[in-house]
Amino acid sequence: KLVILGSVNADHILNVAHFPLPGETISGNQFQMVFGGKGANQAVAAGRCGANISFLACLGNDDIGKKAKAQLMTDNIDTKSIELIDDVATGVALIFVNQQGENVIGIHAGANGRLDTSYVQRHGNIIKEADALLMQLESPLDSVLKAAEIAKQENVQVILNPAPAQALPDELLSLVDIITPNETETEYLTGIKVIDDESAQQAADVLHHKGIKTVLITLGSRGVWVSEKNNKGCIVPAFKVKAVDTIAAGDTFNGALITALLEGQSMMLAIKFAHAAAAIAVTRAGAQPSVPWRHEVDTFLAS
Ligand code: ADP
Repeated sequence: KLVILGSVNADHILNVAHFPLPGETISGNQFQMVFGGKGANQAVAAGRCGANISFLACLGNDDIGKKAKAQLMTDNIDTKSIELIDDVATGVALIFVNQQGENVIGIHAGANGRLDTSYVQRHGNIIKEADALLMQLESPLDSVLKAAEIAKQENVQVILNPAPAQALPDELLSLVDIITPNETETEYLTGIKVIDDESAQQAADVLHHKGIKTVLITLGSRGVWVSEKNNKGCIVPAFKVKAVDTIAAGDTFNGALITALLEGQSMMLAIKFAHAAAAIAVTRAGAQPSVPWRHEVDTFLAS
């Protein structure tokens, strides 16, 4: 049983020729509203990959919140613990995408900010009964810490995807079993810029030293640096695909990885499975619409 705790956002995506300058108004050439948020993206990845997953999240008790919840249910996710809150809007991301595929993003936490420690306490039993708890950093930090503490007391495995990038207290890192930073996040956490194998291992060692057993530094199209405490790490290359956009690549990697690990797959096989799922996601546009289903990942791996 997997529990994911995290954010849900309604992504409002406007494709523009160039980003507007201060004071400028421009017309976009395409607009889309799709569901995103790191927590929800990872929950969708796990659900579509076949995990037995419960998602802990807060939504506004509004049209968008109700639609988001209904959508999550169709992705094989147990949504019983999701709370719809009356006096706050569902989280929102405003995203401009330019012709080069680059993006600028503004986020309003909205209901995600209400995922407080009392919410975590109310749903503590679900965490206690889980085999693994996966979290990100789009939820209040004291709630992430509280959930990790509850998990640790019951020997529930704690996986942290430390995104978006920020420095973290040792108190939280010491409760984490597996951490999955990208290169930027690794630098925030360790002060080390990952430029080669040696610096990747140095950064991993800093995180091992804080008590984390497994460190997976994701390296985009190059794959992942995997390091187990007291062992020399190595790179596991990603699959070569034609990238459309990398939105939700990291989220898909995380959701798929933990799904495979909970099936009892070895770390190496789980990483390969997660690389395959993420590779499919980068060949498709958007966040949740790009996340593959299990049969698609299996077919990709068999080809
Ligand atoms: P994030 O999206 O969180 O910044 P990364 O860019 O490191 O994370 O990507 C996470 C994972 O997604 C990689 O380890 C890899 O499996 C996959 N991935 C990302 N970009 C590509 C790409 N261009 N081609 C193939 N796989 C990719």
